[in-house]
Amino acid sequence: MVNEERLVTLFKELCLINAPALVEAESVAFGRKTLETMGLEVWEDNASSEIGGNANNLIAKLASNVSGQVPSIFFSAHFDTVEPTEGLVIQERDGVLYSDGNTILGADDKAGMAPAIEAIRVIQENDLPHGDIFLLFSVAEEIGLKGAFALKIEELDVDFGYVLDTGPPVGSFVVRTATHDVLEVTIHGKPAHAGKDPEKGVSAIQVAAEAISKMKLGRIGPETTANVGLISGGSANNVVPAEVKIMAEARSTDPAEVDDQIEHMVMEFEAAARKFGATVEIRHDRHYGGYQIADDTPVVRCAVNAAKALGMSGELRTTLGGSDANAFNQKGTPTIVMGTGMEQIHTHDEHVSRKDLVNMARLCLEVVAQTVLSGRD
Ligand code: ZN
Ligand code: CA
Repeated sequence: MVNEERLVTLFKELCLINAPALVEAESVAFGRKTLETMGLEVWEDNASSEIGGNANNLIAKLASNVSGQVPSIFFSAHFDTVEPTEGLVIQERDGVLYSDGNTILGADDKAGMAPAIEAIRVIQENDLPHGDIFLLFSVAEEIGLKGAFALKIEELDVDFGYVLDTGPPVGSFVVRTATHDVLEVTIHGKPAHAGKDPEKGVSAIQVAAEAISKMKLGRIGPETTANVGLISGGSANNVVPAEVKIMAEARSTDPAEVDDQIEHMVMEFEAAARKFGATVEIRHDRHYGGYQIADDTPVVRCAVNAAKALGMSGELRTTLGGSDANAFNQKGTPTIVMGTGMEQIHTHDEHVSRKDLVNMARLCLEVVAQTVLSGRD
């Protein structure tokens, strides 16, 4: 029932529109036209006024065609790509789609978006039974789930849903993720001429080096990680550096372990600053909270039943990465993430197979069928 050529064509059309975060307007306009042409009820929210950028989240609804208690669900994917795809050339080898290596492909997340749309087309064409289905296509996911946090999902009448935005295998689902905290650190030393008066200076770079060298980083535990990811500072080679800025993060499926790790990192920055007579300013943000969805909830049951009906594993996974599902769960709408066919994302080797695109559309269709069945239980 899934039309592979139509699906692959749509996937390519979506990938070929350049849409880095906050510059998704052209892609959103294309998505809007596509969904309107299908006869869906389509609207945009006003996310851009909240997060900046030139585009809003796109929302579409296919109203239920059955009577009785069928849960209202959503499928979600994001428009933005982690980097621009200007000049993208799509190549196909052995049924797998790649870029020519000069850019990313943008399968993250068009490999989620295109199959979700194809599934709706198949439902319409074959008049398949379904409850209310929403499509939530977000902007600015790659820069901190900004679109999803701005999206007022609580105002939609939706029971649960699926974010199509992680790696394979298709038919596996992320039900548990990490809490993710970010530290923004500024070390204030004291400038001085490096040749004439070094003893009058306090080197912010030395303070940073001391702190970071004492820090536990990398894999802290089986489900806990930490990283110092960005550092910048100093003004000239002959000046004792007065300022260093550092970005660091910690993640864990256990929020208490995030707290411990953050406390440890803050302590090392403060101790190093004291040792050298510098001061340190630290901003601590909870980037997003983790979630854990129980196996026996409708959102998980419908997904696992659908996967098994199609001979897929239905495996339930944990990840330390974030997705729009973190935002939707935080707002109270049970959401899990579907594995898609996208591989090597965020690299120029990113690729996805035709087979996985088709299987994602089939999986969405089967999830819809399972929601109708669950309504009849
Ligand atoms: Zn993504
Ligand atoms: Ca991504």
